[in-house]
Amino acid sequence: MIKFLDLQKITAKYADEIHAATRRVVDSGWYLQGEENARFEANYARYIGTKHCVGCANGLDALIWIFRAYVELGVMKPGDEVVVPANTYIATILAITENGLVPVLVEPREDTLQLDDSKIEAALTPRTKAVCIVHLYGRCAYTEKIGELCRSRGLKLVEDNAQAHGCLFAGTTKTGALGDAAGHSFYPGKNLGAFGDGGAVTTNDPALAEAIRSLANYGSTRKYAFKYRGRNSRLDEIQAAILDVKLAHLDEDLAARRAVAKFYAENISNPAVCVPVPDDWRAHVFHLFPVLCSRRDDLQKFLADNGVQTLIHYPIPPHKQECYAQWNALSFPITERLAREELSLPISPVMTPQEIRAVVEAVNAF
Ligand SMILES: *Cc1c(COP(=O)(O)O)cnc(C)c1O
Repeated sequence: MIKFLDLQKITAKYADEIHAATRRVVDSGWYLQGEENARFEANYARYIGTKHCVGCANGLDALIWIFRAYVELGVMKPGDEVVVPANTYIATILAITENGLVPVLVEPREDTLQLDDSKIEAALTPRTKAVCIVHLYGRCAYTEKIGELCRSRGLKLVEDNAQAHGCLFAGTTKTGALGDAAGHSFYPGKNLGAFGDGGAVTTNDPALAEAIRSLANYGSTRKYAFKYRGRNSRLDEIQAAILDVKLAHLDEDLAARRAVAKFYAENISNPAVCVPVPDDWRAHVFHLFPVLCSRRDDLQKFLADNGVQTLIHYPIPPHKQECYAQWNALSFPITERLAREELSLPISPVMTPQEIRAVVEAVNAF
């Protein structure tokens, strides 16, 4: 069986360095808010290209803290609206509603699967305060048009960069440095994954970074003085140490992912399977390799029967979820079609040429 993602093999690649890093933390006796966090935050900020990086407990919290900080700083207030793609993972939407803000769902483009920038304008109201783009599957969702629209309307541009560490817009700027603030996830399966939960916010805004650092540490500004009603949402030292090891190898891992993606794109020739690939290969880090097929469930079963494990991202869109019953009757036909037709093929930096070929052969035999 070709696994969807072989985390054991990914870890084994850097096992010696990771063991040394974890041993260093274990032996140090210092497990929270120490040198490991400081070093990783500095290195990750430099990698993304922002002035600030604040580590936190997970990717959902990173997004929650961005909107919460904007509320605390008086930039947004409950009831304000945030434009967001309808075809995102639930976390993006949860971060908005968690803060009493209102997500305004907008359809993606059928070719890129990313937020359709021609549909944003019609979704704006006097209450709109932000656009939240999601670099879904690892593909850059930013466009000049989105940047221009946010600047001209005074809207905050928030990035959900949970799936796109290292992705480049126009060969120059990393996702996570394109807007006003970005949330990153270090969930184990992400391209830059910890050994448990982890997350971070990147931004060039010092006031936002300071508010988030405080919010994620009980709302504390100095010991036992609480400016905000925060939570405990810190990044462990041991996770920061592991992430710093993996960050140093991220670009080589991304190159390996792109090589798999290129092979898929050039060799999958089944007319029943649509393979959306970018014009600019630097603008995609292939956290996932989505294909579209009108007989998706049959394809998934066929691949499983032929030894290829796949996953669906995502089978139920946010507006069809039980937790958002108020939107269940809304219609987003492109998003709903993607939920019916999307299938993610195995992709990782540790797949062997034989495995990659076997996936292509199985897809073409369907
Ligand atoms: C993984 C993910 C998140 C949430 O990250 P966690 O670390 O799992 O909380 C948010 N948005 C997107 C698009 C994701 O894929």
